[in-house]
Amino acid sequence: MSTTRKHIALLGATGSIGTSCLDVVRAHTDSMQVDVLTAHSNWQKLAKQAADFLPKRVVLTGLKQDDVAANAFPAAVEVEFGEEALAEAVVAADIDIVITGIVGAAGLRGTWAAIEAGKRIGLANKETLVVAGSLVTKKAAETGAKLIPVDSEHSAIFQALECGQANEVAKIILTASGGPFRTWSAEKIAAATPESALAHPTWDMGPKITIDSATMMNKALEIIEARWLFNLEASQIDVVVHPQSIVHSMVEFVDGSVMAQLSPPDMKLPIQYAITWPDRIEGVSPKFDLTQTFSLDFEPPDLERFPALSLGFEVAEQGGTAGVVLNAANEIAVDRFLHSKIAFTEIPRLCRSILASHQFESDPTLDQLLSLDKWARQEALRWTSLTSHHSPSLTAPPC
Ligand code: NAD
Ligand code: MG
Repeated sequence: MSTTRKHIALLGATGSIGTSCLDVVRAHTDSMQVDVLTAHSNWQKLAKQAADFLPKRVVLTGLKQDDVAANAFPAAVEVEFGEEALAEAVVAADIDIVITGIVGAAGLRGTWAAIEAGKRIGLANKETLVVAGSLVTKKAAETGAKLIPVDSEHSAIFQALECGQANEVAKIILTASGGPFRTWSAEKIAAATPESALAHPTWDMGPKITIDSATMMNKALEIIEARWLFNLEASQIDVVVHPQSIVHSMVEFVDGSVMAQLSPPDMKLPIQYAITWPDRIEGVSPKFDLTQTFSLDFEPPDLERFPALSLGFEVAEQGGTAGVVLNAANEIAVDRFLHSKIAFTEIPRLCRSILASHQFESDPTLDQLLSLDKWARQEALRWTSLTSHHSPSLTAPPC
């Protein structure tokens, strides 16, 4: 790796990806530094991070000056507010890489600004590609922005792809942990509570992606993410359940060779690789002890118990406006489930219903996508309000 330090803008610094990224930087202060940290509302945690890392500026997107205690941030750190300030911060000339750790479609704004500025992007915010994959990849090709996946499966594929040429790829195989309900019966899943859905067996993540993992909507979003990131047909993407989360994904080449990337489940590794690529440096993630007995299991996913997964394949194939609608409906559904307003099994039902009722457009503009995002959220909220009572045991409206 070159001896110049990489200057990082870290979006969503207070979240799970954000704190893992800061662990990586803390271990490599000789080669990395954070210039920008952003958060939505947790100014106390952001202030603590600012005191530890002394970035040039911090941005709080969901607050105003009055919401934050005076002198909360070190005097040398500029404190700014709002989405506009975030977009300006990522395009600053001295930023080498933007790590997108914001959750949901809210991450699109900052990622888009970074793409327009031709930055290297460590992409954790998969929703950006789900919502606007065709426009994002087209714009990146125009500006020279480099999208390097942070999502562990996509990082694995990115690494495995280095073993061959693009035209030698037969298919990719995304691995899925199966989430906390992998072995649960359909009846038990129907009665799942937010607490049980938040107890992920192998990964420690933010609440939204943890619920997405329980429904397997996370894998659905990742199918769509992979479709755009690696320019594949939906038919070239397989999903296999691998409960240990050690094989992070695989690429099958035309000669039948399958290349996989393995490591203990820890996001610090793919975050670090996105920063150092094409180089590798000493890692901070735990390593295997291959002298101990361990086994790796693989099983096909069960689309009956996890119907969200089918939506991923369908939407990846449709493209156009399907991704933005699926994503917006899912964000509302997850929020409503976490507030015990809808049942767990209503999450994919709601998404399918909103998708089916939307006016499909195969080649949308960014403005069209943004207005469909709003429309789908309103429709999803309307759908949840039609549920006669806010109890997980009650039935949803027909769809
Ligand atoms: P999180 O909930 O832990 O953190 C989210 C961060 O985004 C916080 O810093 C929060 O302040 C910020 N944020 C929330 N709403 C915002 C808004 N409206 N505008 C601006 N900022 C906002 O989430 P996470 O688990 O770190 O996930 C972040 C992203 O990374 C998601 O897209 C997720 O799918 C992806 N991802 C996460 C993991 C993981 O291990 N956590 C793994 C792979 C991919
Ligand atoms: Mg993933």
